[in-house]
Amino acid sequence: MNIKELVANEPIGSRVIIQGWVRTFRSNRFVAINDGSCAQNLQAVVNFEETDESLLKRITTGACVKVEGEIIESQGGGQRIEMVVQNIEILGDANPEEFPLQPKKHSLEFLREIAHLRPRTQTFGAVFRIRHALQFATHKYFNDNGFFQVHTPIVTGSDAEGAGEMFRVSTLDPASPPKTESGEVDWKEDFFGKETNLTVSGQLEGELFALGLSKIYTFGPTFRAENSNTTRHLAEFWMIEPEVAFNDLQDNMQLAEDNLKYVIQYTLEHCREDLQLLADRQANEEKQLPQDKRTIPLLEKLEFVANNDFVRCSYTEAIEILRNSKPNKKKKFKYLIEEWGADLQSEHERFLVEKHFGKPVILYDYPASIKAFYMRLNEDGKTVRAMDILFPGIGEIVGGSQREERYDVLKSKIEEFGIEEESLWWYLETRKFGTCVHSGYGLGFERLVSFVTGMNNIRDVIPFPRTPKSADF
Ligand code: ATP
Ligand code: MN
Repeated sequence: MNIKELVANEPIGSRVIIQGWVRTFRSNRFVAINDGSCAQNLQAVVNFEETDESLLKRITTGACVKVEGEIIESQGGGQRIEMVVQNIEILGDANPEEFPLQPKKHSLEFLREIAHLRPRTQTFGAVFRIRHALQFATHKYFNDNGFFQVHTPIVTGSDAEGAGEMFRVSTLDPASPPKTESGEVDWKEDFFGKETNLTVSGQLEGELFALGLSKIYTFGPTFRAENSNTTRHLAEFWMIEPEVAFNDLQDNMQLAEDNLKYVIQYTLEHCREDLQLLADRQANEEKQLPQDKRTIPLLEKLEFVANNDFVRCSYTEAIEILRNSKPNKKKKFKYLIEEWGADLQSEHERFLVEKHFGKPVILYDYPASIKAFYMRLNEDGKTVRAMDILFPGIGEIVGGSQREERYDVLKSKIEEFGIEEESLWWYLETRKFGTCVHSGYGLGFERLVSFVTGMNNIRDVIPFPRTPKSADF
């Protein structure tokens, strides 16, 4: 059995075998064992008088053990059942002089340095079980709603995705690459016969499939070589990108809101114990802070988002709100909002969500000049049908749009943006043959996991974070 099955079934009187890792060993008697199947430990009670001294010494934090014994109602508080150990075997020792995880509070920074061992901690066990539940809920949501998952390429030959700086994929010798006559690197000699990169988004390919299968989504790794050393950016992250034929911007907003609420609700229903553990952790972390500096309790925050409508606010309205806001008037923003057309920084997004509206906000109809070439131009000729969803504590969690479906408009936008038309010939062709209104968005999976777990640093919700100057493990 694993511990999850054990606590669910409470097989009092049965003899069972459990394998897992020792969290603590108290009074030469009580071993707390965790096997990662759930947050709970099994309390295994050893009879130290009948157990070899040399064996007892090897029951240390981090050791892997196999215990066999009878399950009884717990004599102490804290757990409903416990095991009276008849047989204990050490499967793998963990020398206490060397094992870095001890039963005390370690900082998240320290745990990042030992990311190979952090899955053994209570906090990271909870985070990664919730991460799993969120990805499962995502697939369930789309499957239940008639979407097909499409595996878009990870190596891309198109440099027009335009969502960020890219990582080159090459097999050329960096010390002496083949050169053209004019002295430039000759990419024709490279593996794919052209310049290739890791994808920054599966959207463009996703669109091709939406214009055939109608409702699709991608869920894959995404790479951005931007030097943003923030708590919200990774160089390698996972993105969910639905794309739907016949959906306009309103439908797109509705889908994204529904999608987010569904997966959050799913964790509330299926990850209660882990969420509670993280909620307690957060409350404990913030104990010292004055009341007004504390964040909303985790479960309350999730319930609130799952059960309330998101605010919808146009970019133009948002600029008015920001222009007249206190931090703008008192020059507290780093970037002051002076006129229509300004790009919104995260300080502005957070003001809107956390201070002004106090709930998730969908901003839409942005100036064309600050958004990508493929977004549908509005009748006013200066805004596009873009939408970003902003979450408290996170900022942008979703970015999406209705796509430009008109061949001529798209063609001139590509020109305007200085993109080589030949590199997008296939994308343009979909507007020539059977084009239609369609929309989609990108939901950053780690930002979602951050939000749901309340973990403030995105590095703590992906198993092995890749960030500037760091790609360990
Ligand atoms: P930001 O402005 O926050 O850098 P973006 O506008 O570049 O994000 P999009 O290109 O719209 O992001 O990507 C869609 C979604 O992917 C974002 O809303 C966000 O949730 C997520 N995302 C983008 N960049 C990163 C990153 N470097 N690390 C983690 N998630 C990211
Ligand atoms: Mn965006």
